[in-house]
Amino acid sequence: MPCAEALRVQAYFDAEVDAVSALEIERHIEHCAECRARFADLKRMRRAIKALPVPMMSAELRSRLDGVLAAEEGGLHRSPAAAADRRTRRASFWLGALGGTGVSAVAATLAVFLIWAPPSDAVLDELVADHVHSLAAAHLIEVESTDQHTVKPWFAGRADVSPIVADFASHGYRLIGGRADYLAGQRAAIVVYEHGHHFINVFSWADAPGLLPRNSTRRGYHLSLWRAGGVRYCAVSDTGWDELEQLVGLLRDSAARDTADR
Ligand SMILES: [Zn+2]
Repeated sequence: MPCAEALRVQAYFDAEVDAVSALEIERHIEHCAECRARFADLKRMRRAIKALPVPMMSAELRSRLDGVLAAEEGGLHRSPAAAADRRTRRASFWLGALGGTGVSAVAATLAVFLIWAPPSDAVLDELVADHVHSLAAAHLIEVESTDQHTVKPWFAGRADVSPIVADFASHGYRLIGGRADYLAGQRAAIVVYEHGHHFINVFSWADAPGLLPRNSTRRGYHLSLWRAGGVRYCAVSDTGWDELEQLVGLLRDSAARDTADR
């Protein structure tokens, strides 16, 4: 008899569970050797599938990747018009990928992210895992302060980058502190904001070659990524996209002002 959680492990792997279930399943995987092996197998299989050239993919795999495309874009475009546009673009993507003509630039970009860039996937998974872990394990904040002049210097010697730190309490995004964590083989700086009942982790690490998507949704969390001044940033939260993007806009404006002042 396979473990009773086997199906949930598969659903978790497919990013089809909510944040609470994801946490439960992660705990289960830690303690169940069978599910741990199953999860490792699934990851191995995904890597092998990603290494396949596009024309070799089966119809089933294509439809599955279609689902991934839809999920990746899901948080961004919610209007019916956008959905129709998305269907058209997906169709043209597969047409192009499978030997037809006219791959759109958007589709080509998506193909690169989804099929030829497994490392970016790993980074995104790491970002979400760290976000979830920070909330679950009371490991959110190592330096607790609403003062940017306390938080920013704290990172010196503890992280490999010096990130943008600013308080946006007047806009509803309160700086509450920061922490340092290993991410993508570096000591990343993480600045934490509170927005209503939500926490937003803003990760930053030294820019390196490699493609990362501008936006992604994984395990129910939204990720918004950008780069500035040799630093990569990623804001992660379970807030809505609009709320997350508003903070990202404030941070980018603040970075632009910093550069102008120098
Ligand atoms: Zn199990």
